[in-house]
Amino acid sequence: MKAEGPASPADVVLMADAGALWRAEDAGLLQPTQSAVLSERIPANLRDPAGRWFGFARRARVLVFSKAAAPPDGQAAYADLADPRFRGRVCVRSSDNVYNLSTLAALTEQWGRDRASAWARGVVANMARPPQGGDIDQIRAVAAGQCDVALANSYYWIRLARSQNPADKAAADRTVMVFPEQADGAPGALVNISGGGVAANAPNRANAVRFLEYLTSPEAQAILAEANNEYPAVQGAETPQAVRPYADFRPAALPVAVYGRRQAEAQALFDEAGWR
Ligand code: FE
Repeated sequence: MKAEGPASPADVVLMADAGALWRAEDAGLLQPTQSAVLSERIPANLRDPAGRWFGFARRARVLVFSKAAAPPDGQAAYADLADPRFRGRVCVRSSDNVYNLSTLAALTEQWGRDRASAWARGVVANMARPPQGGDIDQIRAVAAGQCDVALANSYYWIRLARSQNPADKAAADRTVMVFPEQADGAPGALVNISGGGVAANAPNRANAVRFLEYLTSPEAQAILAEANNEYPAVQGAETPQAVRPYADFRPAALPVAVYGRRQAEAQALFDEAGWR
């Protein structure tokens, strides 16, 4: 779309992760939309305040533990990844991945820069191996005993749990997905979105808005959530049956727009910590 410029035939841009949507916004690929349907149905913390992008499905940033290391009371915190008790037992992907950038951006917002920086250094000290692979690879590494805890997006673990492939199913069976920060007084699990907005040079602007509005309908919310093992973004939308067993958690209230705003800072903190 950058290369196409004003000649781009795209009407709608759909992307995963608020950090990626912020990059699209930053690159001028999106235009603001005023829609009462979108602003009423999508909670304010899951969309751009200026209307350039909207969340249509939610995912949580979860901890995946080995059975042996899983917390007996089911309670865990992002801080656990930096705890010395997990020295040499943490698997994570690289720091330039947008999921990790959004995670550290969120933690920086919640904790402040100093604590977020200390956390990143603590995770580096706990790494079982240099960062490598994607979220699924982290889960497989936990299942294979290469580490005891990993950071992943919820839909990856759910995909394995729902898989008909015996190896995938076994990886889920050997691990435990824990939504962090669920204890009384804890801020709730970090949530991210897949979402989108109207393309900057949309040839069919009115229909682009209608399509985005359709994505907030009960029908589309169910399709999106079920197809990618995510959670609906629209307030009150029903979670599809297949995802419901994995949907019981309290989300953090943080506006996901923060993830983009703090992305450069997050990368700097990762670099300082030596998280490749
Ligand atoms: Fe993904």
